[in-house]
Amino acid sequence: MDKRVDTNLHCPVCKKQRFWYTGKIVSKRNGAIIVYNKCPHCQSAFLSAIAGSQSDYNNNVKRLVSVETLTDCNYEEVSKSFHKQPLTVDDVLSVYTSLLK
Ligand SMILES: [Zn+2]
Repeated sequence: MDKRVDTNLHCPVCKKQRFWYTGKIVSKRNGAIIVYNKCPHCQSAFLSAIAGSQSDYNNNVKRLVSVETLTDCNYEEVSKSFHKQPLTVDDVLSVYTSLLK
């Protein structure tokens, strides 16, 4: 079996080819991995959400699907925000009441 990993990843900013395995994992949740990437050519940073797709009916090939977004945060900032607790109603009310003062 061919274990080669084909990538068709290009930087959304400079369009040069890059490699997914140079990123740092930020989070693994619900079958998806969030990876922080930095283009080695133009230094643009982006987050990639990578998940496996269903196997093809004919050749049983699994594929990876990736959705990306640009960010101006560094890895530490992104990692910190991913590991915070979700906002609660009390958090929202606290901000609201402090804005009224
Ligand atoms: Zn680039």
